[in-house]
Amino acid sequence: MQKEEYKLEEKKMKRKIDKIVIHCTATKSSPEYNYSVDTIRNWHKKRGFRDIGYHFLVRFTDVQPGRPIEEMGAHTKGFNKSSIGIAYYGGLDENGKPADTRTELQKDMLLGLLKRLKERFPNASIHGHRDLASVDKDGDGVEKSEFYKSCPCFEVETYYKDLQPSKFKAYSKAYRDLEKKSKSAK
Ligand SMILES: [Zn+2]
Repeated sequence: MQKEEYKLEEKKMKRKIDKIVIHCTATKSSPEYNYSVDTIRNWHKKRGFRDIGYHFLVRFTDVQPGRPIEEMGAHTKGFNKSSIGIAYYGGLDENGKPADTRTELQKDMLLGLLKRLKERFPNASIHGHRDLASVDKDGDGVEKSEFYKSCPCFEVETYYKDLQPSKFKAYSKAYRDLEKKSKSAK
């Protein structure tokens, strides 16, 4: 069973949450890289952040809180104000190349965390960092050739399609293609 090391207590939120953004830590995926949250916090502080940039960390063994969700994070340029940032540990294969390295436990823990967040923020949509950090040059949604970065190394919008709100604006071409397909099937 996953340890519930984080709390989602009903603190007064002064900011509106309309997005949840998934990241990877861009580190290798094996137990020896199960960094403490303070280690990541120190990396971010060295980059000039006042605190860790993410709100939640999905480690290899558990989920830990980062920056309190009441506070704006520092994880997705242009979208920090009204979003929550989650990073799973990994995203690099053994050669240091971007790869979907999520373990089964990490997939479970991410889903559990997202479900809890969606209970509190039902209208929030779920995106991958790369969906929001790329420019859609040909107007059909962002796709591989347009990604500026690989984070978080998997197609988030479609992976969590069942958790997306009814009024959902997709950024990824993958999700828009899925929508087209389901429309033509009707
Ligand atoms: Zn990222």
